[in-house]
Amino acid sequence: MIPAEYRNPRNLWPQCKMSILNDLYHEIAACQRCNLYKTATRAVPGEGPENAKLLFIGEAPGFHEDQQGRPFVGAAGQFLESLLASINLTRQQVYIANVIKHRPPENRDPFPGEIISCRPWIEKQIELIKPRMIVTLGRHSMEMFFPGKSISKIHGTHQMKDRILCFAMYHPAAALHQQSLKQAIQEDMLKIPALLAQTEVKEPPAPKTQQLNLFEM
Ligand code: URA
Repeated sequence: MIPAEYRNPRNLWPQCKMSILNDLYHEIAACQRCNLYKTATRAVPGEGPENAKLLFIGEAPGFHEDQQGRPFVGAAGQFLESLLASINLTRQQVYIANVIKHRPPENRDPFPGEIISCRPWIEKQIELIKPRMIVTLGRHSMEMFFPGKSISKIHGTHQMKDRILCFAMYHPAAALHQQSLKQAIQEDMLKIPALLAQTEVKEPPAPKTQQLNLFEM
């Protein structure tokens, strides 16, 4: 009989993925695919449990993230943490990453070429983490999963992409400064638990073991 924990690859996979993700962090830290590494202090690959069910994808590191090498540690990060708390989650329970891994100077919008250069990193992270649900934070992240759409129209909605439920939200930094967006992002966040529950993999019922009936032999 195979022990239960070995039947679900998620229970075994974390150790294997851990080292692959670590290798990936080193590759990201050494990335020179665009010029952003020249002005950034350090890369911000992302952080969270390797087997996270929920992956939040923001735009790009800001000043504090660039200093610490960690995503969402400034004011937008504090707001994100309070949003997570509203659905009984902590940042340690989810994976948080950005589309862009090095800070754009003066927090300018990333250029299209920078997004294209950086895209393979987030794609690799998705492949390794295998989240059940991706939450896009802001326009640039949304554009990866909902190309050509407008954030004001599709925030709070979802669609399946490569068997992952993708959900669009405003960026916490934008919402911090505009009361109408703040209410929208708070309401959208509250939709996440039910959507995540929809993605729960239902284990098929174990096949009934055939009892050998001595009298039928
Ligand atoms: N904004 C982002 O998009 N990402 C961060 O990590 C911080 C602020």
